[in-house]
Amino acid sequence: MPIAEIISVGTELLFGEIVDSNAAFLARELAGRGVTLHRKSVLGDNLHRLKDAIHTALGRADLLLLGGGLGPTDDDLTREAIAAALQETPEVDPHLLATLRGLFESRGRAMPEINRKQAWLIPSAEALPNPVGTAPGWFVRTVWEGKDRLIVALPGPPREMHRMWREQVLPRLPLPGAALLHTTLHTQGIGESNVAELLGDLTRQANPSVATYARRTGVDVRVAASAPTEAQAQALLNPVREQVRAALKKWTWGEDDQTLPGAVQAALGSRTLGVIEAGSGGVLCTLLADQRGFLDAAVTQDHRRLITLGLTPVTLHDQGLYSEQAARELAAGAREHLGAQVGLAVVACTAGEGTGQTHAALDTGEGEARTFSLNWPGDAAQVRDRAAVWALGLALR
Ligand code: ATP
Ligand code: MG
Repeated sequence: MPIAEIISVGTELLFGEIVDSNAAFLARELAGRGVTLHRKSVLGDNLHRLKDAIHTALGRADLLLLGGGLGPTDDDLTREAIAAALQETPEVDPHLLATLRGLFESRGRAMPEINRKQAWLIPSAEALPNPVGTAPGWFVRTVWEGKDRLIVALPGPPREMHRMWREQVLPRLPLPGAALLHTTLHTQGIGESNVAELLGDLTRQANPSVATYARRTGVDVRVAASAPTEAQAQALLNPVREQVRAALKKWTWGEDDQTLPGAVQAALGSRTLGVIEAGSGGVLCTLLADQRGFLDAAVTQDHRRLITLGLTPVTLHDQGLYSEQAARELAAGAREHLGAQVGLAVVACTAGEGTGQTHAALDTGEGEARTFSLNWPGDAAQVRDRAAVWALGLALR
């Protein structure tokens, strides 16, 4: 499988004044096409460092993608660096120059002389037309230490880069035509390191690859496989996906496009849900807002109001609001006072000494309420978010 490397060029990228979205775009584009990306780097507008980076990349990658630095000014150095790295001399290409002059004339302007370098070519480069800007790209075919190499240089503005990638670069690339298949399992109620532990050696293989990602709604596990055909990729993917499913069965609530609130709704079926939130600031309600069956909610930290919703003064006095018993009483209260078939309550402390103390309960009216407790400090927004998401997890177990 060909190996690729991306170099983004621009001092403003290096210093963080703009974010390198081009490299992210290219990385996603490559991933689906059977090219293995080994490195992304960012360099400032410096000829020597750029030339060095091109040399190094040519030593280890089949395809080198360069973005930015194709403008007309002195700090646009990508062409110079490629030419220097390959020891070729750029010359003005008469056709490119005529096109460029025409472009300026069509806008009612004369071409400034500094733009001449946008008409440069080296012998090994083919020009890539730019339908939305002045800078043509370069598609360079070369041999480096006995191996065929491709260098692609594209302009920095994303609008130009994306379009030229699709229209000019992709048709020229000798892609292996590989199929990449992936599936993502969504888990809840378990931390990322515990997930990694359960997966063991599975995360250490390359194809299929198994990777974990901590998301707002829990830990996601992505399984990806690539092979020359879709059937072969499927055959690689399936057994590993089953292994991952089996290892994480207890915590998995969905796959791929499924959402956590959607999974909650599926688990509740036709039953209505009432919610009481004390401390989570309505985050739970916001997550559930679009779900059918979500009946009513109370979002309050006022003790008197909570007592009218089912919290007993004894619990409040003896154990405090941030207790499992308080969550139980409020979950029962959500059924009784909000008129729902299933009651879900969460109490979360977002300020002061007990920050992070969270308790939730789910009462279905059948048997004991399900509960969980968590003590995970953070800032108020993190505590609210975590409390809401983990409370939703109760509905899934
Ligand atoms: P131009 O002809 O516009 O000068 P160029 O090829 O020289 O194009 P740069 O000067 O490096 O490109 O970048 C032009 C603009 O494109 C930047 O100011 C920035 O807004 C955007 N840009 C460049 N590189 C990136 C990148 N990697 N990710 C996102 N935006 C970028
Ligand atoms: Mg520029």
